Amino acid sequence: MNDQPTTDQLRDVIIIGSGPAGYTAAIYTARAGLAPLVLEGSLDAGGALMTTTGVENFPGFPDGVQGPELMENMRNQAGRFGAELVTDDATEVDLTGDVKTVKDAAGNVHRSRTVILATGSGYRHLGIPAEETYSGKGVSWCATCDGFFFRSKDIAVVGGGDSALEEAAFLTRFASKVTLIHRRDRLRGSEIMVRRARENPKIEVAWNAIVVDMHGDGRLESVTLKDTRDGSTRELPVEGLFEAIGSIPRSALFKDQVTTDEAGYVLVDGSSTRTNLSGVFACGDLVDHVYRQAISAAGTGCRAGLDAESHIASLDD
Ligand code: NAP
Repeated sequence: MNDQPTTDQLRDVIIIGSGPAGYTAAIYTARAGLAPLVLEGSLDAGGALMTTTGVENFPGFPDGVQGPELMENMRNQAGRFGAELVTDDATEVDLTGDVKTVKDAAGNVHRSRTVILATGSGYRHLGIPAEETYSGKGVSWCATCDGFFFRSKDIAVVGGGDSALEEAAFLTRFASKVTLIHRRDRLRGSEIMVRRARENPKIEVAWNAIVVDMHGDGRLESVTLKDTRDGSTRELPVEGLFEAIGSIPRSALFKDQVTTDEAGYVLVDGSSTRTNLSGVFACGDLVDHVYRQAISAAGTGCRAGLDAESHIASLDD
């Protein structure tokens, strides 16, 4: 990176990304007196929980908590101990040397002895050309953001995991009917979510089906479904299609420097959060393709904070 640092300050910790992992790392490093800078992200600040509704399985909230409220609480907790929270993206990084540099979208270049990567993951797309044509014109990745626009309409959700089941249940508040389109004959979601979907009279399932095309004059009017068993196709009239088919790690910014697996998840050393680069740690959904829970992300954020803290202590020694 050619840019001169905006400030001569050499920080102890920069955290890239927010969500349960980034904010927990911020709480721990801030409480340790390390005054972390958190680049929260401009669009994705707060992470995936900002677009969910009720969270029922985060310990400590027996009556559940709304995802955005949980994130706001974590953010405030980090701020209270002195984390510097900036709602901006990291656009360029050099993580290789002893002094790491991170440039933000406003053009500021920050220097730090450690960096914690907590950029999470983004929505997976189906990968058919039509979905970009109808993106924002019927096709969406966020039920809580866009569900309201589909009052009394027939809509569909693609996917068979907990996200799809949660979105489908949420969307029945607005839609007249929700068709869950799943590529197999068995749902992947948890028992409780599957039972709720089954008991919901507004949810129907199109089994063994994939979306191969979309149609509509300006806005989505129908999708073409292909049967995964015999290859036959049929039209499903829907004005909204919500894709909930999993996620992909947001590692593009640093994957040339930090070792990742083939899917782009950052690799860490055993149960630590240490990456291949000294002083660089990774946590949350950026690392985890198995558990992917708010509580497990918060747990690895805690580890990253502690790992960064002990790294700085060893440098000071
Ligand atoms: P997921 O469990 O990986 O499920 C993704 C679903 O999309 C699967 O059913 C998969 O089909 C399907 N899929 C993937 N690629 C596809 C494609 N190209 N075309 C059609 N279908 C495709 O992802 P998730 O539902 O986002 O859940 C991720 C994690 O978050 C899980 O651990 C889940 O338990 C957790 N989560 C929990 C809650 C909750 O507890 N309330 C809510 C949301 C998420 P296959 O089944 O055939 O692989």
